[in-house]
Amino acid sequence: MLKQERYRHFVDYFSKNQPNAVTELHYGSPFQLLIAVILSAQCTDKRINQVTPALFERFPTPESLAAATSDEVFTYIRSVSYPNNKAKHLVGMANMLVDVFKGEVPSDIDQLQKMPGVGRKTANVIASVVYDAPAIAVDTHVFRVANRIGLTTNARTPLAVEKQLVEYLLKETLAIAHHWLILHGRYICIARSPKCDICPLTWFCKYYARTHTETYLLKAEAAKEKKSNADKKKKALDKISKELKKRSKS
Ligand code: SF4
Repeated sequence: MLKQERYRHFVDYFSKNQPNAVTELHYGSPFQLLIAVILSAQCTDKRINQVTPALFERFPTPESLAAATSDEVFTYIRSVSYPNNKAKHLVGMANMLVDVFKGEVPSDIDQLQKMPGVGRKTANVIASVVYDAPAIAVDTHVFRVANRIGLTTNARTPLAVEKQLVEYLLKETLAIAHHWLILHGRYICIARSPKCDICPLTWFCKYYARTHTETYLLKAEAAKEKKSNADKKKKALDKISKELKKRSKS
């Protein structure tokens, strides 16, 4: 199947089935979304949504957050991953928002990336979600799912994935495709063992085609049997060695 065809099937399916996909992070303003996305690095949206209500209430504006100490911010976000660094980043980001951007979250991806804690992924999320810019953020789910489906070829870095998605998707589809890929990766095409048995994309997914050929399945079965035999052998040897130890003591 040609790559273009895969893209067409991908967009067709999700346009029909998830036409209103949005981020699962809770926020009420660009400033709050920026905070939530910075916090969400290597952490779940569920966890972030648990800590942000109190954080947003205590620091409702860039000025209030800029005036805080990272120690105080830490107390609100201690349950997320890397709370020390993230607390420092949030205070640094708020200071820059106040000093350089007059309290307004910038729309430009390069300017966004000047702020502490804001990498290309975060900048792309803000640009596309808040400002409707034709950008797509590549996180671990987007990276994995795009590769598995076959929307990308030999893309070894998030930037390479981003470039290929931008090349093949229509500008107006980029922002929502980010959510499609994330949600699919979070609930179906999960990292360790994708739920291909319930996935509606099998008929055009490259990974599925590769892992469901007769040869692949035979090899997988043989590997499973080999492992099971090795496990049995190990158990038997352990039993013998225990028995020998017992006898030598008596
Ligand atoms: S078929 Fe499997 S690998 Fe392909 S997208 Fe679906 S869950 Fe992921």
